[in-house]
Amino acid sequence: MSNIEHGTAECRRRLWSFDIRISLFDIRPVLTPMGVDPGPPNPLCAVRPKGKPERSSPSEEFLPVDLFVAPWVIPMAGPPIERGALAASQGRIRAVGPASLLARDFPEARRVELDGCALLPALVNAHAHLELTLLGSSEARGDFAGWVLDLVRRKRTAAPAIYPKGIQEGARLCATRGQGVVGDILTAPEAAADYPAAGPQILVFPEVIAPQESAVRGALERAASAKPRPGGRASVAGLSPHAPYTVCAAGYQACFAEAVRTEGLLVTHVAESPEELEFCLHGRGALVDRVYAGLNAAPPPPPKTHPFEWLDGLGVIGRRTILVHAVALRPRHVERIAGLGAGVVLCPRSNRHLGVGRAPGRAFLDAGVSVALGTDSVLSSGDLDLWKDLVCSVEDYGWRPQEALRAATIGGARVLGLGGEVGAFAPGRRADILAASLGAGRDLYEGILAESRPVGLWIEGAEFSL
Ligand SMILES: [Zn+2]
Repeated sequence: MSNIEHGTAECRRRLWSFDIRISLFDIRPVLTPMGVDPGPPNPLCAVRPKGKPERSSPSEEFLPVDLFVAPWVIPMAGPPIERGALAASQGRIRAVGPASLLARDFPEARRVELDGCALLPALVNAHAHLELTLLGSSEARGDFAGWVLDLVRRKRTAAPAIYPKGIQEGARLCATRGQGVVGDILTAPEAAADYPAAGPQILVFPEVIAPQESAVRGALERAASAKPRPGGRASVAGLSPHAPYTVCAAGYQACFAEAVRTEGLLVTHVAESPEELEFCLHGRGALVDRVYAGLNAAPPPPPKTHPFEWLDGLGVIGRRTILVHAVALRPRHVERIAGLGAGVVLCPRSNRHLGVGRAPGRAFLDAGVSVALGTDSVLSSGDLDLWKDLVCSVEDYGWRPQEALRAATIGGARVLGLGGEVGAFAPGRRADILAASLGAGRDLYEGILAESRPVGLWIEGAEFSL
């Protein structure tokens, strides 16, 4: 049993015994391999059988409880509950079920009535670049190489203070749109101490760019210098070798080895654009002629194969790997990802803006791949509003609204290794609760997306002012 698996089993044991001593700010004990959801299979099991209280420990009897009551509660790991409720205490969920039952079980609870709302787990934005939030908006619509060049030039001329300010503003914007967890790529390790002390949990993935083997060691040392403040809401959760057109084989393998050593995750952009494919397959195209030539820099040796197949051949795709974008894939690649147990983060609005095509969103779900949604950066998506990516995923992938909401909650949690902690309502999980306005629609989920409007957010049971 690996340490991760051991940690998961221990975590599960503790949750079920309600002996919760997990540090809320250290993600390692709760990181779980992709697709493994150690929580209970159905949150309705939290509803006690009639007449027999399911109390955990004598001491818990006396803890203050908040009882959130709404026309609908959507646990994500089970069917929606009409006129439902959720009981939370000490930042954790105690029970989920019909409001009438929970009101009887927790008669002393402080009631939080949320009329006209559905309660669902706070959203998980599985891929963002918060540090870029204040770098402006890119006009390079539909021009991937032009966008990359523009981004690098902006970063080269930006004042250093723009990164910490961007991180703080980006985290705030994510929370105002109902996000309880953000997976964040960080290229400015010196800004890591500036993640806000309150708000969403932020899993930080320091970025590694190393086109040549000679640059690998320095890039890894720089990534390792990213140190979020202990006790804050951010923690390093792995590494992010940027993409097959900016990282050489030795760079990917070194990052993967480091991720294994630290029991972290490996996040990489892959198969994002036709330009990336042309570079990887033939060593030519706009990334060489415009980006590398424009920057007067040397590209990495081209793999001369499809970027996904190249990474697969390097042995760096597995259960701790997260593939971001994953647009230019063939059906056999999707099947292979499912077999390897890797997670995928789709960023539909970013893909639209850059004109790179549509990811095979339907095929991923059909193959059983763990799929999450991410906003990517303000520079490619215009803002950090994951609701717009939910709507876009319905339009571009043919997903049902329910599938989009799953990807943005329980899917994101699983991909980021937090499947036992967030993304679904079940006893022992974190009380990260989103109250979303209910609009008109053919079903409950369509009604939620029609409004796309968070009206309340509680992170670990504490209300966050939207
Ligand atoms: Zn990205």
